[in-house]
Amino acid sequence: MALEPCKVCGSLTSTNEEICMICGYPAQGRPKSVWFKWIALILAVIIGLPVVIGVIQTMGTKDTPVPPLIEEVN
Ligand SMILES: [Zn+2]
Repeated sequence: MALEPCKVCGSLTSTNEEICMICGYPAQGRPKSVWFKWIALILAVIIGLPVVIGVIQTMGTKDTPVPPLIEEVN
């Protein structure tokens, strides 16, 4: 098991791997799965978008904490 720098992103990729685990570019042989990068990107968007939206909504609906007014009238 050896590591070779990816020709595209420069990341060290195992020669046992068919593609670069970082950018999806085939570490060996000819480029054959550029779509892998796009699928990974699309999946990242699909998975990440709800998270981003949730964070934005959380920030938007975040009310300033109201200090509890304790009025004890005796
Ligand atoms: Zn790469």
